[in-house]
Order: sequence, then C-alpha cells, then structure tokens
Amino acid sequence: MSRDGRVYLDHNATTPLKPAVKAAMVQAMDLVGNPSSVHAFGRTARRAVDEARAAVAALAGVKPAQVLFTGSGTEANNLALRGFSGRTVLVSAIEHDSALAAAPLTESQDTQRLPVQPDGTADLAALERILADTAGPALLSLMLANNETGVIQPVADAAALAHARGALLHCDAVQAAGRLAFSFGALGADLMTLSAHKLGGPAGVGALVLAEGLEPDALIRGGGQERRKRAGTENLLGIVGFGAAARLALEEIAAAADLAALRDRLEREALAAVPQARVMGASAARVANTSCLVLPGVPGETQVMGLDLAGVAVSAGSACSSGKVKPSHVLAAMGEDATAASSAIRVSLGWTSDDEAVDRFLAAWITVARRSGRA
Ligand code: PLP
Repeated sequence: MSRDGRVYLDHNATTPLKPAVKAAMVQAMDLVGNPSSVHAFGRTARRAVDEARAAVAALAGVKPAQVLFTGSGTEANNLALRGFSGRTVLVSAIEHDSALAAAPLTESQDTQRLPVQPDGTADLAALERILADTAGPALLSLMLANNETGVIQPVADAAALAHARGALLHCDAVQAAGRLAFSFGALGADLMTLSAHKLGGPAGVGALVLAEGLEPDALIRGGGQERRKRAGTENLLGIVGFGAAARLALEEIAAAADLAALRDRLEREALAAVPQARVMGASAARVANTSCLVLPGVPGETQVMGLDLAGVAVSAGSACSSGKVKPSHVLAAMGEDATAASSAIRVSLGWTSDDEAVDRFLAAWITVARRSGRA
C-alpha cells in the first residue's frame, strides 16, 4: 500500500521501483563518463554497463555477449521481428501490441496469426500446419507469459516445432522475467525480449537476448554501441537499474512464486461473492501474480473507475497504451464474445502486495459488482 493509503495492483503495467534498484541508480548518477570514452571516466561507466549486462544475462541464463540493451521491451520486439528481412514473421494471436505491430504486414496476415485454445495456450497443432504452409524460412514470435491472463505458453514445444522447419523462435518474456524461473537455453529460444520496468527496474530500458551467432539488422543506426545493433549513447542510469533489478529478481524468484497463494485467495473470494464472474485462463498454468477477472456486462473501464474511486489501482483487461479501452484481442482469441472481451479487469500483484491489498480489492470490487446488479 502506498503512503496515501492507495493500493497498487497493476504490476503488469509497471512495477514500483525496488528500493535497492533506486539506490543503485542514485549512486550511478554520480558517474560522469560516456561508456564509449577510452579515458578512466569512460572506463568506469563501461564497467557499470558490463556489470549490468552480466546480471541481465544471468537472469536469462546466457553469456553477457548475448544481451543487447534497447530503449524498451517494445524496441526489443521491433528489433527481433524487423531484424531478419528474409524471414516470414509469424506471431501468436495473443502477443503484446508491440509484437503484433512490429511483424511486417503481408496480405495473408490473418492466416499467419497462431491461434490459441480456449484456455489461452497456443494451439501447437495449428502451429505445425502454419509452419508447413509457410514457404521459405520463418520467424515465430510466442510470448512466455501473457500480459492480460498470465497464461504460460508452451514455448519449448513451439521452439522444437519451429526448429524442425528451419524457423527461428522469438520469445517475449517481458511478463515472465522475475515471476517464473526459466532459461533461454531450456526454452529453445533464438531471441528473447526483456523489459526492466516489469521486474522492479526503471521504464525506458529493455534487452534483446540473442542466440550466439545471430545478427539482426539494426533498427537504429549511427554509432557503434551495442555491437552496432543499437546506436546511441547508452542509458547508463537505466541500464544500471536494469542490472540491479535483474540481480534481485533472480534472488527473489521464490517470493514471486509465493504470490500464487495471495492471488488464489483473491480469486476464490471474488468468485464466491460474485458467482457470475469468471477467471480467464484459470485451467492453464499461469504466472503467480496475474488474475484476469471477467464480470459479464460490466465494462472493464467501469470496474477500473469504481475501484480507482475506492483507492485500488488495476487495469481494464483490454487497456492499451493510449489508455483507451477496446475489446481484448487476447480474450477474443480465446473464443470469448465481445461482451466478455470488454468486461475484463486485470489484477496483477507484485513485491508490494500483501493480504491487506487483496482485502481492499475484494471489498471494492464486490461493491462495484453489487452496484451493477451482478452480486
Ligand atoms: N511485451 C509485453 C508482454 C508487455 O506486457 C509489454 C508492456 O506492457 C511490452 C512487451 C512492452 O515493454 P515496454 O513497456 O518496455 O516497451
């Protein structure tokens, strides 16, 4: 809970900065050098970037040289999906907008979206068919954990199918990192996107992890930084913050899994009080922190506003970056009708969440449901 008594349950939108990350960034504010400079100031700054790179690499289970820093998860998704011009890009239907929009459009775009099953997991039989029908080399983008439902995707299986057809696999692990123990190698990924602000770090810094030897075309040119793959003087503060957050995320991964007990209680008590409500993706494996609740007929936006008035912050399941609400493409892909796809909220817990926060949410949400005649 924040000092003014507000409850923040929107960790999938962005996480509060962890105090140790803030301390590392404040200390880094005294660094003067440009990491590209050869003098002692520059070398000190370079060391800070190198240490952060090693920490992010450890989080993904790769060598530091496999990590490229970017300006966001969005940029990393764009670099991955626009960096291999000879390949047909295939994306799952539930990817984040930054992956959906980055995939170069083709005339058969609709047929290239990998569908998901009603439980929210990617349809691997459909993937086999799509890969077989794709002429030439492909690049498949499948996220590890969905940002709206938390549903964990069968990335290792998808990677095996992709590799059997000569395709590469890109995994957007933005919502999984720090919430789920995984490694780049065990997932069989060729490319992976991470973002600092979803794991207790600052916004405005992300990373693309690359299999050794894989060289995407640069999106941003004009300097030798990041092995010429991402020009521009490094965001030293952001990178240092990312490194500190990655280090903590590895240490605290068990605590992140413990959030399941809190999330499960929230869902149990919400459904007991409001029997019409449903939890999306509940039959699939999910990351421990995320709950997508549908209250049919009550727009997600109405629920979010009612909760906000009670001092509880969550997102509409379908909120996009402009703050506007549209029916959720994720729930639509799971086969939900337009009413359900517009009636979802996403409650996402994190390192600041406790039982009191869940109690505050439940009291406020049950009141919203009653006022709407749903409980
Ligand atoms: N991928 C997923 C799954 C996300 O949830 C987000 C952010 O919400 C992004 C990518 C984009 O990351 P960033 O905010 O760093 O651009």
